[in-house]
Amino acid sequence: MAAELQALAPLDVARIREDFPILARAIRGKPLVYLDSGASAQRPKAVIDAMSGYYERHHANVHRGVHTLSQEATDLFEGAREKVRRFLNAASTREIVFVRGTTEAINLVAQSWGRSRLKPGDEIVITWLEHHANIVPWQMACEQTGAVLKIVPIDRRGVVDHEAYLSMLGPRTKLAAFSHVSNALGTVLPVREMVAAARERGIVTLIDGAQAVPHQAVDVREIGCDFYAFSGHKLFGPTGIGVLYGREAVLAAMPPWQGGGDMILTVSFSGTTYNELPYRFEAGTPDIAGAIGLGAAIDYVDSLGLERIAAWEHELLDYATRRLSAVPGLEIVGTAPDKASLVSFTIEGVHPHDLGTILDAEGIAIRTGHHCAMPVMEFFDLPATARASFAFYNTREEIDVLAAALVRAREMLG
Ligand code: PMP
Repeated sequence: MAAELQALAPLDVARIREDFPILARAIRGKPLVYLDSGASAQRPKAVIDAMSGYYERHHANVHRGVHTLSQEATDLFEGAREKVRRFLNAASTREIVFVRGTTEAINLVAQSWGRSRLKPGDEIVITWLEHHANIVPWQMACEQTGAVLKIVPIDRRGVVDHEAYLSMLGPRTKLAAFSHVSNALGTVLPVREMVAAARERGIVTLIDGAQAVPHQAVDVREIGCDFYAFSGHKLFGPTGIGVLYGREAVLAAMPPWQGGGDMILTVSFSGTTYNELPYRFEAGTPDIAGAIGLGAAIDYVDSLGLERIAAWEHELLDYATRRLSAVPGLEIVGTAPDKASLVSFTIEGVHPHDLGTILDAEGIAIRTGHHCAMPVMEFFDLPATARASFAFYNTREEIDVLAAALVRAREMLG
């Protein structure tokens, strides 16, 4: 009972902020208000220390040497893989492929799985709210194979039309690929239902989890997907490292993507044999420090607890939605009933880019632009939006600072 209460105790945000050295910075003489974690989150000292500690004491190449440092580096690198496996509740570390990020993970699937499986006339189903990383690789695979991309519509709230999704899963559909959480609108997609519908029809599924893993617990076996992709830098880990989860049976049947060291068993001019999973998809020296940093980030997030993180972020989202709605001329873009912790918006008469610059002068970092989701902007007939995105280290006071600055910006420019 005590443990349960402990687990549900609210986060001590003031103390947590001390773990993030950058949050103590001043920008243009004002305390930094960092509301751009959706683009890239900040790192706790534990992650920075894990990486510098690795470089100071353990660095050597992995999987190659018998010397002590190489073994230590390999143990740390493979230890990080096990942390990722546990984090996603994957069945085996053979299903965890280290990549550069979500973008590379999806390109890997599009090129390896897509090019070897897709035939002219086959269909790939994605949704209208995807990030470019879950659109362009499929467009490229379609150009290469003659497959066709089908787009599930969304409504004015930013909710994916589930009936349309079901009706698009036809006999020619080979793959359904969709976000877990939209980076432009915050919509949380019902991935379990979407995957179940695809699986019933024998369709392979890929989930872009870039915006989901920092905010909620993800269990790939419960979801039932074939692939799940995410980036370390949005999960309070380093840039340059990310993860492709692939169900073992699916990964094992895929041809290698990039060739080189580490992905082979034997090489000869009469033929080359490939390594076992997951190394077959990890050609060349990997980002060893990045993987170790990601492992430390997972430990950090686990120490806070994703349930507590989700609870605090929902409070922040509700508070921000209320405070921002009260700003004259402000319209929230993306009003799905199930949203993760970001608010996209426009202010009448103020271009989002001007807004971003004005807020920067007050030490407030938000994102402005098309958020690498140009079809979403086209759908809402907007050139750009401003987006404030929250992490567990944000506070209500920071949202007050944002709201007050938005009122002033509107008075100045609107
Ligand atoms: N998908 C979504 C939903 C994203 O938000 C992002 C990053 N903005 C990506 C994919 C791409 O991630 P990365 O740039 O780390 O590869």
